[in-house]
This record gives sequence, structure tokens and C-alpha cells, in this order.
Amino acid sequence: MKVWVFSEEHHGRPAASALELLAKAREYGEAVVFHVGAGSAEAFAELGAHGASEVHHLDPGDTLAAAPAAAALADLVGDAKAVLFGMGNLDRDVAGRLSARMNRPVASNALDVISEDEGQAVVTEILGGTLRVVKAITADDPAIVVVRSKAFTAEPTGGSAPTVVPVTMPDVGHSGAVQVLERHEEPSEGPDLEAAEIVVSGGRGLGDAERFKIVNELAELLGGAVGATRAVVDAGWVPYSLQVGQTGKTVKPKIYIAAGISGAMQHVVGMKDSSIIIAINKDPEAPIFGIADLGIVGDVHQVLPKLIDALRERGN
Ligand SMILES: Cc1cc2nc3c(=O)[nH]c(=O)nc-3n(C[C@H](O)[C@H](O)[C@H](O)COP(=O)(O)OP(=O)(O)OC[C@H]3O[C@@H](n4cnc5c(N)ncnc54)[C@H](O)[C@@H]3O)c2cc1C
Repeated sequence: MKVWVFSEEHHGRPAASALELLAKAREYGEAVVFHVGAGSAEAFAELGAHGASEVHHLDPGDTLAAAPAAAALADLVGDAKAVLFGMGNLDRDVAGRLSARMNRPVASNALDVISEDEGQAVVTEILGGTLRVVKAITADDPAIVVVRSKAFTAEPTGGSAPTVVPVTMPDVGHSGAVQVLERHEEPSEGPDLEAAEIVVSGGRGLGDAERFKIVNELAELLGGAVGATRAVVDAGWVPYSLQVGQTGKTVKPKIYIAAGISGAMQHVVGMKDSSIIIAINKDPEAPIFGIADLGIVGDVHQVLPKLIDALRERGN
């Protein structure tokens, strides 16, 4: 049975989430993609290489894509087993609209989708990631599921070029009249936060925007990416694109350094699967030490400069 994966094109490539979802979809059924964007040959080839047999392609041009994408998907996915979405803004917008059109619930924040005797179910985490629960989907197929970033590992299968099926823009009345006039991309330096092998994140314990810059310095020395807590983002020290956590990005680096971060559950859900977590906090009771592999109890403004000096001495 078909398992649909939602894919949005960015700079000629499918979103990373689509490739992750394909890793699941191809073992769960026949992997088919609904791809929104200009439709580059490279994007189609990459989707095929990750196991998509068909790519249904909607090019919305400058029309805001969510409404037409949901309408087109609703027409296509009737007899499918599941429709999988990532956590992107368009993904979630389309999932919600598809749910309304098809009168099905959305199972969100999924870490896995499973077939059970009675039907399908999703695995999610509760209580800040301390417990995993299995939630049965009792509605008819297709199951509409929004999956957390990095729940599956994207791996090419060496599959061949998929069949590309153009999708005609459906008429969605006034909803289709919204035009995108301008796109803004936040400039970023260094490695991509979600893909980086080393992430250095700072929290409110850094004190202020000026003193937060020491986090950037350490990240640069280590060739890593900078992350932050929501407290820091809300204070305007760094842009939202650096936020790690429940309402920010999910990261899974080899090394995660948490400096001046308390370890609130909403932050922890976004980084707890990092291979090695190093926490620096002046409070020995800070919850972050509960998940840290290495902990330094101390003032970040004493510990980080020493770490930076030691790295410089080593020639980093
Ligand atoms: C619906 C919802 C969603 C949320 N989503 C997110 C999210 O996606 N990501 C996120 O991060 N948060 C999120 N939050 C906020 C979260 O609950 C916490 O408020 C936030 O993570 C705390 O950030 P913090 O650790 O920087 O600050 P604090 O909790 O204030 O912790 C600062 C820490 O720094 C330590 N410290 C202070 N000075 C020093 C020093 N000089 N040296 C060393 N340590 C020092 C303190 O001991 C303390 O532990 C969300 C909250 C809600 C309600």
C-alpha cells in the first residue's frame, strides 16, 4: 500500500525531512512523494535515490502553497496507508488542512509509525521525553502523521529515477488568491545547526547578548554550530533560527555543549539524543546535569575562556 511523503523544495533540493521520512516510508509500504516547489531534476533524482517510486509534483509558483497542496493531496491519497509530514511550517500547515478536508485526525510529534493488529499507531514521547507511549489511530486510513525531525535516518538506497507526475493547481477559491510577495532568509554562518556534529548552545546563564558571543567563539573554534534556549531567543540575543527544543530545532550531534542552560524539559526534548552532552552550570542542582555525560559546575565566564585558551594552545 502507498505511503505518501510530503516534500518541499529548498534551493533545488528536497527538505531533509522528506529524505528522513522516505527511509520509513519505503519499509512501511510503497513510498510515493508529493513534492511542492519549482521541481528541479536534482530534487527528483534525490527523492528517487531515497526510494521514491513516484513523485507527484505541484509547482505553486508565487501562490501560497498550503491550500492548493492540501486540496491536491486530498484528491490523491484516498486509498493510501499513511501520509507522512515533517515538522516544517508548510508540512504542518498542509497536514492540518488535509485533516480538515479528509475528516481524519493528525497524529503529531511522532517518533515512529507502526502497524498493529488493530490498525496503525504512532510512538510519541511524553513528560519531556521521559516516557514513550504508543497511540493507536482509530480513524480510517490514511493515517495523517507529523513526524519529528531526525526520527529516521535518511539513507539513499541507490534507487532509480522516479516517475514524475505533474499535479495541476486545484481551484481552492479565495484560499488560492494569496500570493507570496517576498521571501526572507536569515543569513547564517558556520555549519547548519540541524546537521552539525558539534553544537555549542548558550542559555540565560550567559548574562546578556554581548557576553553570549563567547558561545559563537567556542563553536567556531570547534567547527560547530551555535544553538540557544528559548529564554535567550525571547530576550533577543540571538535569532529564533538558533532555538533548540520543543518549539525550535531538534539536534542530534556527536557533542552538545550546554552552557548556562538549566535543562528545562522543553529544551531537553530538542537535544537529549546527542551522543555526548557536556553541561556547564554554576548550580550543581541544575536539571541539565541529570542528562549530561560530563558536567562542569562553575561560572561559564570562567570555564569557557579557559576552554577556548586550551583549544587555541592545541592549535584549533
Ligand atoms: C510551550 C513552551 C515551549 C517551549 N519551547 C522551548 C524550546 O523550544 N527551547 C527552549 O530552550 N525552551 C523552551 N521553552 C522554555 C523553557 O521552559 C525554559 O524556560 C528555557 O529553556 C530556559 O532557558 P535557559 O536554560 O536559558 O534559562 P534558565 O532556565 O533561566 O536557566 C539559566 C541557567 O543558567 C545558570 N547560570 C546562571 N548564571 C550562570 C553562570 N554565570 N555560569 C553558569 N551557569 C549559570 C543557572 O543556574 C540556570 O540553570 C518553552 C516553554 C514553553 C512553555
